[in-house]
Amino acid sequence: MFEKILIANRGEIALRIHRACKEMGIRTVAVHSTADQDAMHVRLADESVCIGPPASSESYLNITAILSAATITGVDAIHPGIGFLSENAKFAEMVEEHGFVFIGPTPEHISMMGDKITARNEAMKLGIPCVPGSDGAVDNDVEAIDLAADIGYPVIIKATAGGGGKGMQVAHSAEEMAGKLSLCRSEAKAAFGNDAVYIEKYLGQPRHIEVQVLGDGQGNVVHLGERDCSLQRRHQKVLEEAPSPALNAEARARIGKTVTDALSKIKYRSAGTIEFLYENGEFYFIEMNTRLQVEHPISEMVCDIDLVREQLRVATGAPLGYGQDAIRMNGHSIECRINAEHPKTFIPSPGRITDYHAPGGLGVRVDSAIYSGYAVPPYYDSLIAKLIVHGSTRNECLMRLRRALEEFVVGGVNTTIPLHQKLISEPDFLNGDYDIHWLEKWMGEE
Ligand code: ADP
Repeated sequence: MFEKILIANRGEIALRIHRACKEMGIRTVAVHSTADQDAMHVRLADESVCIGPPASSESYLNITAILSAATITGVDAIHPGIGFLSENAKFAEMVEEHGFVFIGPTPEHISMMGDKITARNEAMKLGIPCVPGSDGAVDNDVEAIDLAADIGYPVIIKATAGGGGKGMQVAHSAEEMAGKLSLCRSEAKAAFGNDAVYIEKYLGQPRHIEVQVLGDGQGNVVHLGERDCSLQRRHQKVLEEAPSPALNAEARARIGKTVTDALSKIKYRSAGTIEFLYENGEFYFIEMNTRLQVEHPISEMVCDIDLVREQLRVATGAPLGYGQDAIRMNGHSIECRINAEHPKTFIPSPGRITDYHAPGGLGVRVDSAIYSGYAVPPYYDSLIAKLIVHGSTRNECLMRLRRALEEFVVGGVNTTIPLHQKLISEPDFLNGDYDIHWLEKWMGEE
């Protein structure tokens, strides 16, 4: 096993990785920007290195500074966390060229799934069902309009380099196409420096269902069941649950097998997630994330597996050592993403946290790096805590979530806790009766 690793991230996920390391006797090196010198991930790490000014482009995305920090501190491996460099194939390659182990998939698999068109084509080759759409990028408007007519309206225009819910436009008719195409292209160019777009059928009432996988790079791949992430605002997940209230055992086993068969063919290594839209009993691939995901804890709670521990183990070259039969799913888990944002307007609310009390008790987990007196910096993602609860049934989980949200105190900044409190009293949500558009309709945004 590794003796010391560098965690190339910040916030709750850096802490999450640190915790797994400590339990395995691995020492940790934190990296941080000048804005994060008092951050909890820095305080708890065995060593820390300042890698640059507040802007992520000069610190958490600064490959040279991160590799220098790894060299100076003499680590064995680097964990990229979530976001930042976690899906940057070039970074993964450079980490290995510098003699460190990259705790994640191979650079080839990261690139294969990084670009949406390549990912879609790979998925089809591997026998994973996709949303009907264009074979590749669509360069000219006439071609795009012809194609959309074949697919049938509405269609969704997507940036091939897109991510984080950005670079997507829905067109309902041929008249709307030219305008939406140029809007999507210019958004994509501005956000990702690449204006290539493609077209897919726009599904009207799907759920977002994703399957968590774990592979050892030697052909052994297991899945940890699915997560339902249909509660979204502007394509961003707000609350996730596992298992999905919409799947039965047959559908779960079917999609689980499709995914594990496909990924064992390519000998996938590390944790990954394949995202699907699910409508009328059919699954349609939308993308694969070749990294840990924000909502990974709900799968951990249901399967009683520490995904970061497993990532570390397989990164040393160890085989998984167990098969699908060993994965037992037990009970129900829900995660609420708590952001430092106004619960109605979603305007970010950085600033000093004056009071902090985290809920606890049986089946309650809080993944967070904040503390009383901590100042939430304005430079990064507004996620400040994840409240994860587990219960033996969905109902027990919901009751536990309600009481945990009541106990949660974060003073000094606005948070989305009141939104979650309101949400978990809604009959549709309680009945598990929601699709990807439900939340926005409920909030009056559609
Ligand atoms: P990103 O990489 O930006 O997260 P995804 O391709 O994963 O983009 O899509 C994000 C969300 O956009 C999905 O969860 C879903 O809500 C919506 N979406 C994507 N593709 C479609 C589609 N073909 N039809 C309807 N909604 C879609």
